[in-house]
Amino acid sequence: MIPVFDGHNDTLLLHAQDPDRDFFARHDDGHVDLVRAREGGLVGGFFAVWTPSPDLPPAYAGLGDDRGLPFPPGGAVDPARARAHADRCLAQLLAWHEDPAGRFRLVRTALELEEAIRDGVMAGIAHFEGAEAIGPDLAALDVYHAAGLRSLGPVWSRPNLFGFGVPFVFPSGPDLGPGLTPHGRALVRRCNELGIMLDLSHITERGFWDVAELSTHPLVATHSNAHAICPSPRNLTDEQLAAVAASDGVVGLNFNTGFLDPEGRRDTTLPLDVMVRHVDHLVDRLGVSRVALGSDFDGATMPDGVKDASQLQNLMAALAATGYDDDSLRAIGHGNWLRVLKLTWGE
Ligand code: ZN
Repeated sequence: MIPVFDGHNDTLLLHAQDPDRDFFARHDDGHVDLVRAREGGLVGGFFAVWTPSPDLPPAYAGLGDDRGLPFPPGGAVDPARARAHADRCLAQLLAWHEDPAGRFRLVRTALELEEAIRDGVMAGIAHFEGAEAIGPDLAALDVYHAAGLRSLGPVWSRPNLFGFGVPFVFPSGPDLGPGLTPHGRALVRRCNELGIMLDLSHITERGFWDVAELSTHPLVATHSNAHAICPSPRNLTDEQLAAVAASDGVVGLNFNTGFLDPEGRRDTTLPLDVMVRHVDHLVDRLGVSRVALGSDFDGATMPDGVKDASQLQNLMAALAATGYDDDSLRAIGHGNWLRVLKLTWGE
């Protein structure tokens, strides 16, 4: 079994919506819990804190399965609501970290991540998908960093104080709005100083280039695919991939059918071959040491072949069948995340 460290899940949203849900028990719904993670070789991942948009139709504001549909981006989220939601989600991670059986660790350093993987304890990184919980003075960023925040996407697919995210239109290039605001530029600088990884997966193309120019860290898109194969604005053009490669960054393959299928269909029968084609393209453009996984579990529509965390080895087997050797699979599975986190966080 190839250990998989995953660049993106929305599992905290399931727990925010159902506080009684037990992460350590097996469930039939959703995609990630500890039992299914162990079955599929999922050793940890980035746990996203994402505040639902209040003005989306009910079908979109609930569980993630409908977030892959094309829809105009919601308006800005009320910062007080985002702050309350972020506090709740971080408290959840801290509670799992205190699990008496020691089955989960909130990791803050690359060494802690390596140790968790070695010890067979599930490792979680606290990630903000959109920085709405942080105010213009950035004071909350320091507080959240002290609480364990180590990764942040300035925007989700909507505007906020810091920048603009791409709406889910299809087909389209990612140049769908302005770049970073002055507050966004200050946020990038402060994340660099604190050693918080910046995630470019939802940002407009202009925002991407603003961060590329400003940031001193490798460029990272935790859960995005190849635009050359699936022309969704959530995917990266070859020009963007070249910039990620030049910065020694990483791109995590998103399993959402709508970001994989060349026609943008949310069809769960999508064959694993299409995922392999995206990995091939990313490896071709980035090199095998800069391609990783970023499933979008619990936030998107999965292909039947990797319908939840327990099925992850199906993807590794599909990659092995097309010629990826063990070293490459271990790099894509988890090693490349470790490499970039060491560069970004320090040892
Ligand atoms: Zn996302």
